[in-house]
Amino acid sequence: MRRWADALIHLHLDPAVWSFGFDNAKTRAGLCNYTEHRITVSRHLASRFEDDEIHQVLLHEVAHAMAGPRAGHGPRWKAIAREIGYTGKRLHDGEIATELAPWVGTCPAGHVHYRYRRPARPLACGRCSRRYDPAHAIDWVKRAA
Ligand SMILES: [Zn+2]
Ligand SMILES: [Zn+2]
Repeated sequence: MRRWADALIHLHLDPAVWSFGFDNAKTRAGLCNYTEHRITVSRHLASRFEDDEIHQVLLHEVAHAMAGPRAGHGPRWKAIAREIGYTGKRLHDGEIATELAPWVGTCPAGHVHYRYRRPARPLACGRCSRRYDPAHAIDWVKRAA
């Protein structure tokens, strides 16, 4: 796992600048820290994931490092991620998409949602209701940077 991470950093980033490590996060799999130029993967999740999935987590974070902090999960990040082999099947909703999103929303049932911008219109929880229903409206809070 560390070997793959180092290999990816050598292949796509400057190994003199970027490094890899583990962290203790429980709610997300990976993190790209632009301040410390460090890509980390959660120990807890790494121990539960299949090799393929860990590889995908690494690609996801390496793509963040390449795309830069302002790209978020937008088109630039997506293009880079795809190019380096991220297929992003099940990893993208929830756990992994949370690492950069400043807006955190909660529905009345407690489902947590993440957005990069404050939603312009009221949103209902997609897990509680297929269509917009004010009874399942999400309450948004901006978290501290
Ligand atoms: Zn991400
Ligand atoms: Zn809900």
